[in-house]
Amino acid sequence: MASHEDDEEQDRCRICFGGHDDGPLVRPCTCRGSAKCVHSACLEKWRRTGPREDAAYRCGECKDDFQDPLSLELLRERLQAERMNGQATITTLGTLASELQTQGHGDEAEPLLREQLEKTRETFGIRHPSTLLTMTNLGGALRQKGDLVAAESLYREALEVQRETLGNRDPHTLLVIKSLGVLLLAKGDRAGAEQLLREALEGFRETLGNRHRDTLNSIDSLACLLELKGDFAAAGSLYREALHVQRDTLGSRHRLTLATISRLGVMLLDRYTPGCQDGDLAAAEPLLREALKGRRETLGNQHPDTLASIEFLAMLLQDQKRREELPAREQRIAAREQMKDDIAAHRLAAFLAEFVL
Ligand SMILES: [Zn+2]
Ligand SMILES: [Zn+2]
Repeated sequence: MASHEDDEEQDRCRICFGGHDDGPLVRPCTCRGSAKCVHSACLEKWRRTGPREDAAYRCGECKDDFQDPLSLELLRERLQAERMNGQATITTLGTLASELQTQGHGDEAEPLLREQLEKTRETFGIRHPSTLLTMTNLGGALRQKGDLVAAESLYREALEVQRETLGNRDPHTLLVIKSLGVLLLAKGDRAGAEQLLREALEGFRETLGNRHRDTLNSIDSLACLLELKGDFAAAGSLYREALHVQRDTLGSRHRLTLATISRLGVMLLDRYTPGCQDGDLAAAEPLLREALKGRRETLGNQHPDTLASIEFLAMLLQDQKRREELPAREQRIAAREQMKDDIAAHRLAAFLAEFVL
């Protein structure tokens, strides 16, 4: 990896132009080229003092969210200041709630979203896009909490108005269609889910193109459903499409790219059932290893995603060992069936936990 090291030699901080000697350089977002590196300390200072409203939680250039504790700290401080000064809190309530949800603190997001919904209703009325978006976000928080009934009624209420006022092809409408699809999937209504997820994906492709973030998320949701249905060929081609675009636009180390690499690897592992070819297991291994390596290096050894990657790779290695040790066909089949169940349960749980909006 000589070229990689050469690369690091030339790395410069995008803020102070210093190198590795002046402190650890990190790559906090999807910016490329001379803007890709920054000192942690320089970035923190910029986020604490930057004049931009969004400097606290995302990169001003590529708009990638930093998704770290500092985002929460700065947004909490901002909300507190707005409350003390009697300023409007609607925007900060929404941004903080969305950060909390993305970072797995859905419980804390719910009361903020309820407050935001009350305020948007009062300020803009019940048919305003901001009110509808808040309803959808609250639906997401309730869904994460497991209150599927309350979440569904919020989604359906918002969707009905949006289909009427914005039309069926508006990206806001499409997001709610997708959210409701994922909710139905969580409820076990696969047919209902599939219809909505296909409608959402078709709409995103048409209005935003095949490379937009929302299109990729939508591809991911539909692929997950197809995989649960056992339609591995269709799911695999969707995952590969998303992965190709993600490697190109986000790079191979981005958490979303790593998530797709992992999903595809796990699916190929899962697909290794009697009658399928050994080639699937062989294709799964490099993907699971790449996901683990990338997560170790970008998230550390203790992150839940890294631990999940370790678990998947362990399953694969265990199965390889079992096949060597237990040549009896029946035992091999039993071992694989058990592994399939473990993975399917884990994957649905992980997918639903990750899904925010
Ligand atoms: Zn610097
Ligand atoms: Zn950036």
